Amino acid sequence: MPKDSLKKFNNLKRETRGMINIDPLQAGGILTNEARQALVEWGDGFSVCDFCQGKLDEIKNPPIYDFVHQILPEFINADAVCLTNGAREGKFMIMNAIAKYGDFIIIDKNSHYTTYVAAERAGLKIKIVENSGYPEFKIDANKYEEAIKEIQKEKGNIALLLLTYPDGNYGNLADAKKLAEIAKKYNIPFLLNTAYAIGRMPVNMEELGVDFVIASGHKSMASSGPIGFIGMKKEWENILMKKSRYFPKKEIEALGCTARGTVIMTLMASFSKVSERIKQWPEQVEKARWFSEEMEKLGLKQLGEKPHNHDLMFFESKKLFEISEKEKRGRYFLYQELKKNNIWGIKPGLTKNFKLSTFAVSKEELKKILKTFEDILKLGTVPFLKN
Ligand SMILES: *Cc1c(COP(=O)(O)O)cnc(C)c1O
Repeated sequence: MPKDSLKKFNNLKRETRGMINIDPLQAGGILTNEARQALVEWGDGFSVCDFCQGKLDEIKNPPIYDFVHQILPEFINADAVCLTNGAREGKFMIMNAIAKYGDFIIIDKNSHYTTYVAAERAGLKIKIVENSGYPEFKIDANKYEEAIKEIQKEKGNIALLLLTYPDGNYGNLADAKKLAEIAKKYNIPFLLNTAYAIGRMPVNMEELGVDFVIASGHKSMASSGPIGFIGMKKEWENILMKKSRYFPKKEIEALGCTARGTVIMTLMASFSKVSERIKQWPEQVEKARWFSEEMEKLGLKQLGEKPHNHDLMFFESKKLFEISEKEKRGRYFLYQELKKNNIWGIKPGLTKNFKLSTFAVSKEELKKILKTFEDILKLGTVPFLKN
């Protein structure tokens, strides 16, 4: 190894920290000051395990037990909660625990890729409920009933219904309550993927009537990651948390232990702020709708549900695409112009279609973003010479 080749690892600076962040993936995961402190305090490996007697969620100091068995269940109105290493791990845990190899899972077309890979890993067959297509891409809960009937006609066994709430592409919130009724009618467990919901907006399992929810701490709960949790109805507790025959305290689906590090500490440290911020959800939706209207005034088109019900939004812009075809920087011009204006979150190279989130930014900052888009669109009125 050449001398000094490891030097670059000694000072890992993050270029984008502190920028105006409209990346849907990052907007809900920005740490609170309390979590930032916890991150340093508990950074030493396995330090949360100082007083562990064999089960992470039973640790009283730091107060993980209270958090997992009292605070979180109350927060989402679940009978029980278990920690996971993320939303995807939650999905896989549920699928692996309750389904048999070769069973069907019915999912929405707007599902996250992790839904597919979790089902594949669990050996399940996937049946997809299509969306309504351009421009709203809505999921109709009634279509699940058709899918159920089709599978049952072929004598297939359906282990689980899954709905993405909201989906990570358009930010659509489908009718989960309606699907819960269908799930009950056919006696099929129902999992609601709330990676983009819990921690941003109120979610009440009892009210929705679902069997499971999965949450993502780094996506929506101001937490470093990866961490998440499952909320479940009582009847699933013993199945999901089945113990090892050899180590009676260790849960098999959790491989004995999950989020055993700083991640749980940041999730707990941010929680009082997170539980407060969900009360601002109506204002968040209002802000998103206002931003969508202003973007449309500039000539962009918001796809997905309209009026919109979530901070994650998908935009289409033929104008920006046309500019990219003339611009000498090509399709990277949008990313570069935004970055110049201290705005982070639209993927490099995207112009025609992109998603963003208004969650972590104030209306003042959104005004700056709109002004920047306005200026960028003016680039299109100036004739360019392509290099
Ligand atoms: C981000 C995301 C996930 C994955 O979350 P992890 O906690 O990183 O596993 C799953 N589903 C949806 C809809 C997402 O947006």
